[in-house]
Amino acid sequence: MSIEGGVLDMPVVWDEDCLLHQPAGEVWLGERIDGTEVPDRATVILHRLTEAGVRLLPPADRDDEAALLAVHDRALVEHLATVWADWEAARFPADYGRDRVVPYVFPTAAMLAGLPVRTPTATHAQVGQYCYDTMTLVGPGSWEAIRAAAACAKTAADLVSAGASAAYALCRPPGHHAGPAGYGGSCYLNNAATAAQALRHAGVDRVAVIDIDAHHGNGTQAIFYARPDVYYGSVHVDPGAGWFPHYMGFADERGNEAGINANRNVPLAPGSGDDAWLDAVNLLCDDARAHGAQAVVLSLGVDAATADPESPLQVTADGYRRAGELIGSLGPVAVIQEGGYDLASLADYVFAALAGVAAGRAAAAST
Ligand SMILES: [Zn+2]
Repeated sequence: MSIEGGVLDMPVVWDEDCLLHQPAGEVWLGERIDGTEVPDRATVILHRLTEAGVRLLPPADRDDEAALLAVHDRALVEHLATVWADWEAARFPADYGRDRVVPYVFPTAAMLAGLPVRTPTATHAQVGQYCYDTMTLVGPGSWEAIRAAAACAKTAADLVSAGASAAYALCRPPGHHAGPAGYGGSCYLNNAATAAQALRHAGVDRVAVIDIDAHHGNGTQAIFYARPDVYYGSVHVDPGAGWFPHYMGFADERGNEAGINANRNVPLAPGSGDDAWLDAVNLLCDDARAHGAQAVVLSLGVDAATADPESPLQVTADGYRRAGELIGSLGPVAVIQEGGYDLASLADYVFAALAGVAAGRAAAAST
């Protein structure tokens, strides 16, 4: 694996089904607005990487239910697989013009007041049991894309456990806000967690997930929070400064039970640029080394980019290249695509990060 003259020699796992998810906007503060998690995100990345000469591979198995159930509750997986058909059968599109699945009532701790959650009868009431915000809509084709994205992540992990120095999964929709039992933040199933667990199943004793998306990966944190074998480290815009996911991602969340100290959050002030961000990435790399990680899952969100509409961080493409290099020096890397919403620049950022990973792997191999 190398990068010379703008050519990137890295396996890229891609499935056209990832384009089938068309959320058609999001409900934000009560209004349906245009969303930024659009199919073109994947198309521009694919175009840029194809130009760079990458090898495209399909996922090995789109129907690997065991890989999904290793990190998600069966009820969540079944909900995502069936909710659009249920929504149509309940005639929400035909009779009410509701062309996407959206929750309207949420069984929060405040509502339940200590009582257990019952599964409600009405389809439109069931959605809030799994979907924790109103921005993460489900429509025709969503499930096909969701399972394809997870399958791409699993295959990238399998390539790494089979000896690849690095592999990239062009996952869409992204995954790091999806937890073991619920979804939100434009994420449905957790692709990075699926990859990390696949590495564990393949015999990698210690895995580090390093998440450089601009937002905290609350879902990945939740999945591994009590586990010592998978470290989770994230640098992101400070949720305490008013940013999604608002309720978690704070520095004092360090894991619990057997997973104590295997979780690290580095929240940054809005406006932070390369210096502060790379210091944080360095810290996470030191942690991963101290954790004894033999392989890394990189949650590659490029929405910390200066021009990105979804975050106030100010990281340059060169910053992403350097982050990739630092992370590539740790060991074999399965790179999983997360966020990144500025269609004009996001593909260059992804390329820069992957080029950095390739350079970091090459440097590690030569020492
Ligand atoms: Zn993000």
